[in-house]
Amino acid sequence: MRYISTRGQAPALTFEEAMLTGLARDGGLYVPETIPVMSRDAIAALAGRSYEEIAFEVMRPFIGDTFTDAEFRDIIARAYAGFGHAARAPLVQLGPNHFLCELFHGPTLAFKDFAMQLIGQMFQTALARRNERVTIVGATSGDTGSAAIEAFQGLDAVDVFILYPHGRVSEVQRRQMTTPNASNVHALALAGDFDDCQARLKDMFNDFEFRDGVRLAGVNSINWARVLAQVVYYFSSAVALGAPHRVVDFTVPTGNFGDIFAGYIAKRMGLPIGQLVIATNQNDILHRTMVSGAHTKEGVAPSISPSMDIQVSSNFERALYFAYDQDGAAIAQQMEALKTDGGFTVSQGALQALREDFTSGRCSEDETLATITAQRDATGEVLCPHSAVGVKVAEEHLGANPMVTLATAHPAKFPDAVSQAVGIHPPLPKRMADLYERSERVTEVPNDLAALEALVRDRIQK
Ligand SMILES: *Cc1c(COP(=O)(O)O)cnc(C)c1O
Repeated sequence: MRYISTRGQAPALTFEEAMLTGLARDGGLYVPETIPVMSRDAIAALAGRSYEEIAFEVMRPFIGDTFTDAEFRDIIARAYAGFGHAARAPLVQLGPNHFLCELFHGPTLAFKDFAMQLIGQMFQTALARRNERVTIVGATSGDTGSAAIEAFQGLDAVDVFILYPHGRVSEVQRRQMTTPNASNVHALALAGDFDDCQARLKDMFNDFEFRDGVRLAGVNSINWARVLAQVVYYFSSAVALGAPHRVVDFTVPTGNFGDIFAGYIAKRMGLPIGQLVIATNQNDILHRTMVSGAHTKEGVAPSISPSMDIQVSSNFERALYFAYDQDGAAIAQQMEALKTDGGFTVSQGALQALREDFTSGRCSEDETLATITAQRDATGEVLCPHSAVGVKVAEEHLGANPMVTLATAHPAKFPDAVSQAVGIHPPLPKRMADLYERSERVTEVPNDLAALEALVRDRIQK
């Protein structure tokens, strides 16, 4: 299995290389050269099996000979051992034909744990064998950073530095980054906003002497291994609802398009998915694109579902690549236009291709709050604001197939929005009930490249 760039100019890589590299050298994103297909019988045989066993069967064809079967089973077992629910991604019924897939039982209460826990173990196994270490630096508005720190803490082949905007993440998010005490993880509170964090991160990657000197690696959502990990719960939930004998629909609260793109891969692998519904909040570039074909940047308006507050959606490039029949040159041109002109128009043919696989909807702030209230009253289920965006849009797309809405975070991670809607502060799960008592460890850093690089150089374990 080889991985090629969406912009067609970077060398093809193995799974291991694509995972350790992240972004391709031509600025593109890695995608599998061909998408393996599972037979109907193979899909039917997943019914009733554990999440870990389904994960092994679904991901195995993508990893080539990066890991032996025994190694890979071991990696998967370690990745999901710390989850607080035996099913890992349990389904809850909301209505006659509407189900919620709860993806928030991992250690940091958001779906990002599914991918981050797995790639933590994959990095460790691959690097230990190569006798190498890497330095991971990430920027976060909350969920990615806490998932990364939690996943990589204590792994001896990796140092992790997470930049977050000082004073601009929720208290739960901050504490999840600052309370792990392993010496290889470092929470850095930067004097600036999230865009400053991302800009300094980009600067570090563009400083090649620094980048090579500390062996910088990225684990942001464009990393192919993260997308792959997310394919699994489409299979586990569809099979539980009768696939491959029944067609199942999915609605996905979307920001950078990583989670829903995993659904597209599942469909291409042969899982009978009917609709794949993109649910956006008021930052609706993806919904506007699906409606009109115009992919145009507008400023970000901060919302109560902050993990979906995006101006451009990085993984959408992968969907475009397939919609444009794997024409790397066309993608490179569109991405250049996005950078220089702030947007582009999707061609008629590509838009039609996108509409064959995806539909979309948008949810306002008021609708988000009203949905949290209505669901609590109708079912007792307390939704986080991101999951509420999904449920609202899913309700507009219910049809004959079972609909699965992905619940991307636990309500306790976003207590302000939830208490605004239902008047209660959702409690943290028992296993982390002492989060507010644990001691914090954080370094305040200036918005300055040289100072950040000096700190990273000084702290890494040589
Ligand atoms: C990251 C995140 C999203 C958006 O996921 P994408 O893969 O970026 O589309 C939605 N909800 C929550 C809670 C998140 O943390």
